[in-house]
This record gives sequence, C-alpha cells and structure tokens, in this order.
Amino acid sequence: KLLCSHIGTAIVNAELYTHTEEQRIQLEKQKDQINELNAKLQDQVEELNEISTHDQLTGLNNFGSFRDYITCRVEEVDRAKQPLMSVIICDIDHFKWFNDTYGHMAGNVCLKEVASRIQESSRPMDFTARYGGEEFVVVLPTCGLKEAFHVAERIRVAVSSEPIDIQIEKVKVTLSAGCAVYQLEESWQETVKRADKALYRAKERGRNRVEAEPEFQRE
Ligand code: GH3
Ligand code: MG
Ligand code: MG
Repeated sequence: KLLCSHIGTAIVNAELYTHTEEQRIQLEKQKDQINELNAKLQDQVEELNEISTHDQLTGLNNFGSFRDYITCRVEEVDRAKQPLMSVIICDIDHFKWFNDTYGHMAGNVCLKEVASRIQESSRPMDFTARYGGEEFVVVLPTCGLKEAFHVAERIRVAVSSEPIDIQIEKVKVTLSAGCAVYQLEESWQETVKRADKALYRAKERGRNRVEAEPEFQRE
C-alpha cells in the first residue's frame, strides 16, 4: 500500500508540474525512494516466504511445504505412470527421556543436530522436512524401496555413530526409520501410512533400526 501511494504521488507530481529543474530533482528523489522501498519490500517478501515454508528451529522445510511438495510429485508421477518415489519417516528414539533428563533446550539442540545430519545424509534431489515434534520426513524422487532403505540406513548411522554435543556432555542419540514406495493412483497419505507402519515395526524390534513396508529380504 505504501509503495502504491508513493508511486501515485510521483505520477501525479509528474503530471501536475511543468518540469522546472527543482521539480525534476524532486521527482528523481522520489524515484530513488520508490526503488529503495521496492527493494525492501522484495526482501520482506522473501523473508516471509522463508518463515512460512521452513521450520524455525531446524531450518528444514515445514509440514506445509512437505504437503505441497509431495502433492505436486504425486501428480507428476501419476501422469508419467512411473511410480518411482519413496518416503522415509524418521523418529528420534526415547526423545521424551532425553528432554526429561537434559531439559527442553538441550532437546532443541539435539533436534537441530539430528535435522542437519538427516539433511547431509540425503541426496541433493531429496526433500527433507520436519514432519512434527521429533519426526522427520524425506521424500526421494526416482527412488525405489531398496534405495530408500539404504538412504535411511545412512541417516540412521549418521545420527547414532557420533554423540551429540549438548555442552554439558555428549549424548548418544538414535532414531528409527520406516520406508515405503509410492504406488500409482494412491494418495500420498497412504504411502506415509505404510512408512509409519514400518517405523512402528522398527520401534518394536528394538529401535535404532530401519524397516520397510512391505518387508523385503535384507542382504
Ligand atoms: P519413541 O522411542 O517410542 O519414539 O519414544 P519418544 O520418547 O521419542 O516418543 P514420545 O512421543 O513419547 O515423545 C516425544 C517427545 O518429543 C515429547 C515431546 O516433548 C518432545 N518434543 C516434541 N517437539 C519438541 C521440540 O520442539 N523441542 C523439544 N525439546 N522437544 C520436543
Ligand atoms: Mg514421535
Ligand atoms: Mg520418538
């Protein structure tokens, strides 16, 4: 609105006055002001976009971005009739205990570090997001179930192999993961449901573990 009002003033001024030197200088000044405001506005639009699409704690994409992204992917995959897209759901093990033992702030440090390790262990083409509290989701385009399983294994090892530094001490943290591959014409919620089922199995079978749904023979 501010920008429009400035532009309006400048146009009216330009129309009303004959161009004496003084008025020409004033118009130039106003033009500069408009350009400056425009640049600020652009920065703010970008900042707002970042805030609305990313999780403020971990810097990963947020749930809304994930939903938008996977909805587009599902449409593409269905149109191409090439059902190659997988989903991994990761959930930090015993995170309530972690919070209760080390405090909520240390829990936040842990979430940030786990998020960063998930991001680093994924491929550049993968889409990583914070799904909810201590749960993360990775969407792997062009990826089958076995390949997704390997990426999930890489994430699991990246988290468990190096303790997390929370200042007072270094704590070993683990996560469990469930993988599923998208089936043509189903909704993305159904794929996530299978990944969740696999995750539940990973928890049941002792945590710090990756499972896939449907199960397959491990090498
Ligand atoms: P499991 O191994 O079965 O997954 O057990 P869990 O303790 O990880 O699972 P549970 O669902 O019981 O607890 C999740 C905890 O995550 C509880 C909640 O307080 C914590 N949590 C969720 N979001 C945040 C957050 O943003 N910061 C912190 N510090 N903790 C969070
Ligand atoms: Mg959970
Ligand atoms: Mg958990």
